[in-house]
Order: sequence, then structure tokens, then C-alpha cells
Amino acid sequence: MDMKMNMKQVSNNCFAVLCEKNRVCDANSGLINRGGGVVIDTQSDLPHGRQMIKLFGKVWRSMPKRVINTHEDGDHVWGNQLFEGAEIIAHKSVPERMKHVANPEETRKLLHGVADVSTRQALQAAHPGLVAAGLQLREDYNLDGIELVLPTTVFDTRYELDLDGTEVHLIYVGPCHQVGDTIIHVPKERVVFAGDVIFRLCTPMGWVGTYDKWFQCLDLIVQLNPAVVVPGHGPLCGIEGAKEMKAYLQYLRDESKQCFHAGLSSLEAAKRIEFGPYGEWRAPARLYMNVERAYREFRHDPPDAPWNTPATFDAIYQVAKAKGIEIEY
Ligand SMILES: [Zn+2]
Repeated sequence: MDMKMNMKQVSNNCFAVLCEKNRVCDANSGLINRGGGVVIDTQSDLPHGRQMIKLFGKVWRSMPKRVINTHEDGDHVWGNQLFEGAEIIAHKSVPERMKHVANPEETRKLLHGVADVSTRQALQAAHPGLVAAGLQLREDYNLDGIELVLPTTVFDTRYELDLDGTEVHLIYVGPCHQVGDTIIHVPKERVVFAGDVIFRLCTPMGWVGTYDKWFQCLDLIVQLNPAVVVPGHGPLCGIEGAKEMKAYLQYLRDESKQCFHAGLSSLEAAKRIEFGPYGEWRAPARLYMNVERAYREFRHDPPDAPWNTPATFDAIYQVAKAKGIEIEY
């Protein structure tokens, strides 16, 4: 398995481990290497978590006793158990949410299921997208052995750490991409760890939250004026990463509105809407999720209406087919 992970120094004391394939589950991690060290997000499985520890291990004196989870998704928390006895800090919504959305069992079953020919064939007719996603994930991930380790310290709107004189601000910005969305600002070093509020050069997948909240958070990142932003997914950027994300989401919402008023379903709309300049981003067919989220707002559905995961992966698959592009998640 080639994990294609690299470490980059982003300021005096801040580092990032980037998962360079930049497909679904290829999340980044951060390190603030002061005051005993703090790790931000712990990767999607134990092999990736261990590789992240090996890379950061080149610069830290010893394993940090503090971890921050930027939100509740599995690709950001499934390596938590590798930091034994650590304080794990997250927004107060995260422990409960993690039990539901980051339960590794369902994905683990999918990865084992698609490896078995007869199970795969049985699943293929009803859920071709789910099978494609499972096969893709199997190329890079192995969820065996993951045990959910929940946050031990939670906060409401803001939380601050003082790492030997370097302030670290945890700012709650959700729900925009997920309920627990938190950004981490290190003012002295002009760095923001954005979590999945920013997907860089790949199509965002938002689960719970509203477009307006997401815009507010992106505006906040621009106001904080960091020199470097470490996105949840994709390569490092500056504030242009926040601006691009906002432009993408605005484009998607505007296009979706027209389709909604024309009476198209969200799937029809996703097939119809041009990728435009975003066709170069990884997994452009994931735009279906952003269309569906816009539709939910137009229909006045609650922002936390649940997703049917197999149906969602199937819809993305159908969009890719309709667009004549290779299926990728
Ligand atoms: Zn993620």
C-alpha cells in the first residue's frame, strides 16, 4: 500500500502531514510542536495513523499528550487510539455524533464485503456506487482494529491553549460541513488548521449544516488573515483557499436554485450543472452532495436530515456516468 503521505513545515512550530492522493478519506493532520505538542486529527485507519506518527516523530521530542479532533468524521478520528492516554479536545457535540457517524463497523463490513466476489455481485445491481466506493477505499485503507476513542475535553464556542507562550485558539464554526466543525488558529505563527471547512483542489462533501454558516466560516478565515491554511483535504494554501471554496459553494447554490425552480430533481440537477473550472478538482461528481444540500435548504428540510449513504454513493456514481468521467470518490 502506497500511502503517499508527506510532512511539511508550515511555520516555526507548525507542521502538516498531507495525504496527497486527495480522495475521500485522505485527510490531513497537523502538529503544533510546542508545550508538549498538539496533534490535529488522527487519520482514517491505523496504518495511516502510524505513518503520520512516524513523520511527525522526526520533529517532536516525544508523543504529544494532546489531540484535537476538528470534527466527528471517521477520517479525522480513527487514529485516536494511537495516542494512548492523551487528552482529546473537540466541540461538545462530537462525542455523541462520533458514535453514529464514525462507527467503523459499517465501512469495515463494506471493505470486506466488496473483496468477496459473490457479495460484491449481489450488491452491484442495487448499489453500483457503493461497490465502486468500497473498491476504491480498499486500495488504500484497512479499518481492522479500529476502536472508537472519544474526546475527553469538550468546549462550546471557544477554547484556548497556551503552549509555552504560543496561544492556540479553537473556534467552533459549525454546523457548516459537519456538526462539530472547529478551526484552529495559531495567531503568532499566522496558521489556521481548517479541518473540512476547506477542501483544497477536491470537491467538498458536506454532511450537516447550512450554506450560510459555511460562508461565515470562510469569511472568518479570510479575516484571520493566516499566511498558511492547512485544509482538511488537499494541499496547503493561503486565504485564496477559503475564497475559492466560497466561490465554488456560491456557484453550486446558484445553479441548484435554477434547477430547483425548473422542477428538476437534485440528481437530474447534478447531472446537468456544468463543472466549470471545478472539473479539474478531484472527484467532481461529488458535487451531487452540494446540490442535494442546497435542495434541502430550498425545501426547508432540517439541516441535520440524515443521509442514506448507499444512495448517496450511487447518485455520485450516476453523475459520473452521465458526465462520461471516471468514477472516483
Ligand atoms: Zn474529512
